[in-house]
Amino acid sequence: MTQEQKAFMQMAIDLSRTGMNSNMGGPFGCVIVKDGKVIGSGSNAVLSTNDPTAHAEIVAIRNACQTIGDFQLDGCELYTSCEPCPMCLGAIYWARPDRVFYANTKKDAAKAGFDDQFIYEELELPYHKRKIPFIQGMREDAEKVFQEWILKENKTLY
Ligand SMILES: [Zn+2]
Repeated sequence: MTQEQKAFMQMAIDLSRTGMNSNMGGPFGCVIVKDGKVIGSGSNAVLSTNDPTAHAEIVAIRNACQTIGDFQLDGCELYTSCEPCPMCLGAIYWARPDRVFYANTKKDAAKAGFDDQFIYEELELPYHKRKIPFIQGMREDAEKVFQEWILKENKTLY
């Protein structure tokens, strides 16, 4: 990492500490950078907002997308104090930044009590064996909306 990249990572780490110390949530922070400027940042805010999806990366992605008025993070770099969980990994892929830098690893997070390994294991299991059962129904009705989407004019593809 360059000195500039280290400085952005330090911001993410600082956010992880201030978020933790102000009881916003767990010790996680994230900064999103475009053209050398911070366009979004966030700390884990699960506890303060009662939002289980308020992980630092999600908070920062929402913040950055609002800043630039776009739903894509083309040309952006994401700095996170910890290797992303499966939810944030998905969000990162949807947001499509150019690169992700992380500091702590998944194993470090697990040692601190934040173990997302079980989610990876759940993904491998058939639906009926998962902790949260997934039950399918009414596909014909829901699928009609997909057909309407396919035929819809003037839609924005993402
Ligand atoms: Zn996450």
